[in-house]
Amino acid sequence: MWLYSQKNEFFCVLMFEIEAIMNHTEEKPATEKSLNFIEHIVENDLKTEKNGTRVHTRFPPEPNGYLHIGHAKSICLNFGLAKSYGGQCNLRFDDTNPITEDTEYVEGIEADVRWLGFQWDNKFYASDYFEQIYGYAEILIKKGLAYICELTPEEISANRGTPTKAGVESPYRNRSVVENLDFFARMRAGEFADGEKVLRAKIDMTSPNMHLRDPILYRIRHAHHHRTGNAWCIYPTYDFAHGFCDSIEGITHSICTLEFEVHRPLYDWLIEQVEIHHPQQIEFARLNLTYTMMSKRKLMALVQNKQVNGWDDPRMPTIAGLRRRGYTPAAIQDFAERIGVARRDGIIDVALLEFSIREDLNKNANRAMAVLEPLKVVLTNFEENEVKEFDAVLNPEKENSGTRKVPMSRVIYIEREDFLENPDKNFFRLSPSQPVRLKHASTMIRLQRVILNSQGEIEELHCQAIPEPDYQADKTNPKIKATIHWVSEHNSVEAEVRVYDRLFTVADLSEVEDYTTALNPESLKVLKGCKLEPSLKNVKQGESFQFERKGYFCVDKDSTENDLVFNLTVTLKDSKGK
Ligand code: ATP
Ligand code: MG
Repeated sequence: MWLYSQKNEFFCVLMFEIEAIMNHTEEKPATEKSLNFIEHIVENDLKTEKNGTRVHTRFPPEPNGYLHIGHAKSICLNFGLAKSYGGQCNLRFDDTNPITEDTEYVEGIEADVRWLGFQWDNKFYASDYFEQIYGYAEILIKKGLAYICELTPEEISANRGTPTKAGVESPYRNRSVVENLDFFARMRAGEFADGEKVLRAKIDMTSPNMHLRDPILYRIRHAHHHRTGNAWCIYPTYDFAHGFCDSIEGITHSICTLEFEVHRPLYDWLIEQVEIHHPQQIEFARLNLTYTMMSKRKLMALVQNKQVNGWDDPRMPTIAGLRRRGYTPAAIQDFAERIGVARRDGIIDVALLEFSIREDLNKNANRAMAVLEPLKVVLTNFEENEVKEFDAVLNPEKENSGTRKVPMSRVIYIEREDFLENPDKNFFRLSPSQPVRLKHASTMIRLQRVILNSQGEIEELHCQAIPEPDYQADKTNPKIKATIHWVSEHNSVEAEVRVYDRLFTVADLSEVEDYTTALNPESLKVLKGCKLEPSLKNVKQGESFQFERKGYFCVDKDSTENDLVFNLTVTLKDSKGK
């Protein structure tokens, strides 16, 4: 493990030593599987019967955008714990902010969770509990623990002080309970404008924890809510609502990311004052990935500024983007398992995510030959209509996967980069002095002529095709050093292939102030007129293949019967970062 960029004491960036992980992929038997720190807490609670025999978790997204791979970590963790311990997991939409939320996102999030392979036991919305939460606010007011404050938002924030300097108490702090209840009811009734008043907890303006310095509990927002419509014009803050939602649902372990650790005293305080079921908040490190932006708000900006083609652009780290890119739920779950759960922030090398999908597709994707940048080759010793046929295995990693027929005709295509007229000594593919083997055909081709076009560029090659036994029989022939893929003109299929590179050029995006300066201008390359072998004629959307020697590709949703479109999922080997 190596450390770099000790930016501040809270955020040390550590890179996983990818190779070490990749070399230790054997599954441990279930009994040997070591527990992560949250599983330890859960097992201990079960032993002491803290919540009886119950384990109840929840995944609480805010419906203000689409889920990303970071959320997938949280989903695998929460749903995974429920599954391991025979418990339940709720899907709860944290919809306390009417301005940024929308039903489009609710539907997108549900689809993503299901696609990842999880089914919630209950689906709830924070807005289901608005009435109850309002009641809890009244309880606090009656206990003298909350008050209506009329300072402006700027004044409130100026009076809050700093971690080393105590805050200043609001002049409205000691209002009577009667007055507070009356104002609170009138806030709800819509008598005041946005920002005119807020409800604040009365805790401690000198606390070293800033979140305990009379935090705001309710604010006025005359806004339409995607579920409650215009029923409310006051909305609870995230901090006020979240613990109550957990409590109402009987959550036992409320798992969130580390930045909420400093909110935990407030979470606990609110629940203790109202005297209701007390879930335990547990924080874990959020997922950060190299070359990847991981915030709904910033991903939204990419979409709105048209720097990508929508939330499901295959370059996006959203679940929708990864799905369209050809990632599988199994690969994402495998990735979540490998990165584990820790209590220290770090950054994971995106190569590890690529490793997980490569492993999955290696086992499960059928093979095919596709020439992405074709160079025409005429096999001069083939007759005009002569066709030979070869059998090629569909998937050598899968027993009994069957075979496909690969035809060879007078015209074939090879990859432009597999021929060099003036190679150096490290080039082993086709050149004037070096024949090459055609994959699956037990046939060598030897260059006879290079045909140039009027601009002097290579237009086509003329080659002689020699069956392998004949070639080997002649001991004067040069040794064959490479086998290349190819596609014959006969029955070939044309397609567009979209080749992706990283969306960003900077590994640690937390160090970049303006993300637009880190965008990779070459993150998408569209190749047209690619030549595919006949077995790919009737592919279906979402199907994945290994294009031999090139990588894993899947059929894009833009694909039609007559105009096939493929996406590069991942190359065969990790060529970056080495
Ligand atoms: P974003 O800033 O991307 O919108 P968020 O935390 O505000 O993220 P929520 O919808 O509030 O998004 O998150 C739902 C759940 O997913 C929370 O429990 C949150 O802790 C978790 N989560 C969000 N991002 C990550 C991440 N990068 N790694 C792990 N868990 C995450
Ligand atoms: Mg959020």
